[in-house]
Amino acid sequence: MDLAKQQQFFAQYPRAFRRPIDADTGPLDFWGIETGDGWHTLIAKAATAIETAITQLLAANPEAEATAWPRISQIKEKFGLLRIHVANTTSDLAAALDALSAQSAQICESCGQPGTLNKDGYWHVRCPECAARRDTPACDFARLAQVRIERLTILNARPDFATPALLARLHATKRAEILDLLAEVGPVMARADRASDSPVVRGTEQGVVIEGTDMAVASLFDALIAGRSLADFLVANPDLAPGAAVRVLLRAREMLAKEAS
Ligand SMILES: [Zn+2]
Repeated sequence: MDLAKQQQFFAQYPRAFRRPIDADTGPLDFWGIETGDGWHTLIAKAATAIETAITQLLAANPEAEATAWPRISQIKEKFGLLRIHVANTTSDLAAALDALSAQSAQICESCGQPGTLNKDGYWHVRCPECAARRDTPACDFARLAQVRIERLTILNARPDFATPALLARLHATKRAEILDLLAEVGPVMARADRASDSPVVRGTEQGVVIEGTDMAVASLFDALIAGRSLADFLVANPDLAPGAAVRVLLRAREMLAKEAS
């Protein structure tokens, strides 16, 4: 989706599109809205429903922390239709999102005019006019790198709703966990020989070695020990594949649990 339109969404529905707190990142936080512009109206309806659900939640419990509010974690096209994933969803919200997904079968993903679901090859919903232009490149590859920078800037500028008390608690917990982890496994070394989003953690005589990753993972450990949020780190380090850092930590913990048993 056009970046200016995404920016408008983030400003208009700040709680639904808020920045992640701690490690609750989703594909949205790396890729933004992964659909064409034509589903703009449907996405606005979804965001409105989520904002309403948050308002209702806060009416029932004014103390509810932002980590408990519904949050959009991904907006994409799947099997030709609009698919919106929401963390902390409710049954009402899920039903509303399913209904919007069903409606997307009749709305051109490119332009928003009435369309039909075309199941030739890659499934997609297009109006006759957009379908006739299907040979036109949908993506300006020459501008991809610049778009990536602009998108991350926009994503990074979204408001977050973490209270200082919540952040202090999360950072204290995370810092303690990481320090415990490092104290148990000894020095952490990272090999910079190849990049992969499936890092492997294994114990050696020298301590723990993280393989199949890059130096970003090593600096992640430094950042966490310094008490920085994982989400901030991931946004500031776009070269680290989504999920890689989280997987490293989970693998390290898994390994420790195995050793302890
Ligand atoms: Zn169209």
